[in-house]
Amino acid sequence: MCAEVIETDKKIVYMDHAATTYVAPEVMEAMLPYFSVKFGNPSSVCGIGQENKTKIDEARAKVAVAINAEPNEIYFTGGGSESDNWVLKGIAFANIRKGKHIITTVVEHHAILHAAEWLQSQGFEVTCLPVDQYGMVSPLDVEKAIRPDTILISVMYANNEVGTIQPIAEIGAIARAHGIYFHTDAVQAIGHVPIDVKAEHIDLLSLSGHKFYGPKGVGALYVRRGVRIHNLIHGGAQERRHRAGTENVPGIVGLGAAIERAVAVIPEESVRLAALRDYMISELLKLPGSHLNGHPTERLPNNVNITFEYIEGESILLHLDTFGICASTGSACNSASFESSHVLTAMGVPHEIAHGSVRFTLGEWNTETDVSYVLEKLPEIIHKLRSLSPLTPEELR
Ligand SMILES: *Cc1c(COP(=O)(O)O)cnc(C)c1O
Repeated sequence: MCAEVIETDKKIVYMDHAATTYVAPEVMEAMLPYFSVKFGNPSSVCGIGQENKTKIDEARAKVAVAINAEPNEIYFTGGGSESDNWVLKGIAFANIRKGKHIITTVVEHHAILHAAEWLQSQGFEVTCLPVDQYGMVSPLDVEKAIRPDTILISVMYANNEVGTIQPIAEIGAIARAHGIYFHTDAVQAIGHVPIDVKAEHIDLLSLSGHKFYGPKGVGALYVRRGVRIHNLIHGGAQERRHRAGTENVPGIVGLGAAIERAVAVIPEESVRLAALRDYMISELLKLPGSHLNGHPTERLPNNVNITFEYIEGESILLHLDTFGICASTGSACNSASFESSHVLTAMGVPHEIAHGSVRFTLGEWNTETDVSYVLEKLPEIIHKLRSLSPLTPEELR
């Protein structure tokens, strides 16, 4: 959608931070030396490598502090998808003697859903919990789904499409009471809501650098001490023998710098973004035939997801793009296909209507001026598209 962002000098309003973020300037600066002068292999005995080993451990400590874990509970990975795959496959095969049943939800990211599907093909059983009209999972449903052979419960912290924040602490308490491992995909939540793995009884947590102004292709997995999990990537002895492969030193340094600053600004930034979000939502809902997707209050401070009846989200995006506004329909993975979002479908949004959904996800550089600009352009676009569509009823023309 945003192909010509680089080549033009027109006004660009980027509101797709849930898809990815730029690398913050100070994060980039922290990373740069590790591409060049400080290129050493952390496993090497040379001074240049040893210094990098120390840097990795500093980044590890920053990730630990950000979620109230211990540094030796943090493992660096190649991103959110790898962390999610590691949890599902690693827990499944390490706990096979206890059982082969896994509980997750219908609104998870595909990194969870497709890994769970693959496990089904390997003889595991997966229960996918439903959600309510706001995309919320019920802790009661979690409890009812538990069986003697359940080995893992995986529920995302916050949804990437509609922004709904799940009752993680309650689900964590249920899992802990039943002695079942509890994983949360917190990729969208880090840097937006405070997370405490101890208080919320989280045993495993996935995060990814490029969703909070860090680099792409680097993430982390928190594994509480004592959790039985097999390795996903076999090879050398890196990451205390749990994740092989020469460390992505610049990426890890960047992830450490990014998580430190992202968590530090939560108190002010979440309030600032929530105010912009609420203003945007209330203005957009004034347009006839528009609906909010996701929870009205339990939602990420930067997520605005609206359905406009009788038009295609794709068409809205193309028109927004001509004004330099970058948003998305639901999830980045779906934007190339015309399949409707599995999240909106699970929330009961009818197929025809789900197609008219647009997701704006705000970020650090978005201001009131940006929001006003979108609010100025969007109604014109909606009006134009509706007037062109034969499906539009008279009252919406
Ligand atoms: C982006 C995202 C992922 C995947 O992370 P990558 O680092 O891009 O592999 C997983 N889960 C959620 C909720 C996400 O938003």
